[in-house]
Formats: sequence, C-alpha cells, structure tokens
Amino acid sequence: MTFFEKLLLNHAKGPRTVLDSEIPISNYIPIDLSIFNKELELLDVSNPNVCQEYIDEVVNYNSHKIAYGGYLERRNLYKKSPGFVGKGDEERNIHLGIDFWAATGTKVIAPLEGVVHSFKNNAASGDYGPTIILRHEFGEEPFYTLYGHLSIESLHGLHKNKEVNAGDVIAALGETEINVNYAPHLHFQIIKDLGDHTGDYPGVCSQKDLDGYQKNCPDPNLLLKITPPFVG
Ligand SMILES: [Zn+2]
Repeated sequence: MTFFEKLLLNHAKGPRTVLDSEIPISNYIPIDLSIFNKELELLDVSNPNVCQEYIDEVVNYNSHKIAYGGYLERRNLYKKSPGFVGKGDEERNIHLGIDFWAATGTKVIAPLEGVVHSFKNNAASGDYGPTIILRHEFGEEPFYTLYGHLSIESLHGLHKNKEVNAGDVIAALGETEINVNYAPHLHFQIIKDLGDHTGDYPGVCSQKDLDGYQKNCPDPNLLLKITPPFVG
C-alpha cells in the first residue's frame, strides 16, 4: 500500500457516503457490470435503457436503493463511444472510479472538506457530462476527487476555490440526455496528480496504461469504506 493509500485509509472511520445521507449505507448493493458477468452476456449495456433495466433488476430484487461498484472493472459499457475504441490492450474499458447508480436528482455530497478546483460540462456522448473536481489536502499532500454525470444545474454558482465542507450537498445526478447517454449515476474518482487537467480526467483506461492510472487513482473504497472488510 502506498503512503497516499494509507492516508486515505486512516483518514476517518467509515462508512461514509457521497450520495444523499438520508439513504443508509445498508441500502447500497454491489453490482457487477464487468465483461465477466454472465448475466450481461446477452445484454447491450452500452444502451442506457438496457443498463437501467439490469440495475433495476439487481436493486429491486434485493430491495436496495443504490447499486454501486466498478473500481478497475473491465466493461463493455463503452463499446459504442468513439473516445474509447482501440485494438487489443489499447481499448479503453477499465473503470478507474466507483459508480453509484441511483435516481436522477439524487443529491451528491462531498466526503471531505476542500475547494472547487474546476468544473466543466464534458458533453460529448459517452463522456462525463457536467463534472466537478474538488481539491483536498491531507497535511501538505494535495489530491483531488472527481464527480461526473451531474445535472447542468450542479455547475451553476460554482467558482474556482469555492470552499466545500464535508457533508455539503455539491451537486445532483443528471438525467441520461445530460450525463451523456448513461443510466443515471455518479462517477466518483480519487486522483493524486491531476496534471494540467481542468474539469476532466480520464475515468476509464486501457490495459496498456493501467499501471500508471491505478497508482494515480487509488480505490475510493479506501476512503469511503462501504465494502468488506469495512462493512459486511
Ligand atoms: Zn464511472
């Protein structure tokens, strides 16, 4: 485990949420959207309606409200989006954050205090849609959290360096037309070194680039502690 991963792990006791705090963590259920899930073999999950039907099946069947997961998951979700194509180990299909699949309009909450680093509507089909990046510090150590697939209104009234407290509502989930072409969900990603990126950072990478991205984008569960061994 790297020094940064230890900082995330030891920062606070979990579990903590990045969605409406009135929905208890016990209502969260893991979902497998990987290429290895046999239930998806005959489904075109790159179609947001088909993807939503599958999510509803998992959530309703289990009487849970939010399906989540996807860190380092290899997916077929991006097959039809032009920004993701590539041959062999250059195809971008490995997911670098955690997705929380919940209803349009669900509140998004900052898990840590910080400031707004940047925000942007990444409106190309298959991209993030409205996106916010917060900057945080553990001591001298800066790092970033990214929130993708938000509503347009989530970007209103923001400015660079706007202060955010842990637990503040910072956004709401966008609908499929806005988010852009996915079932409603939050993409949450931790980024150590943001480089020159503003309002955007890759949320999916290829096998070829996985090593570097995995080091720079640790498992958000280290901070949130919503899956075993933290909860379960
Ligand atoms: Zn995602």
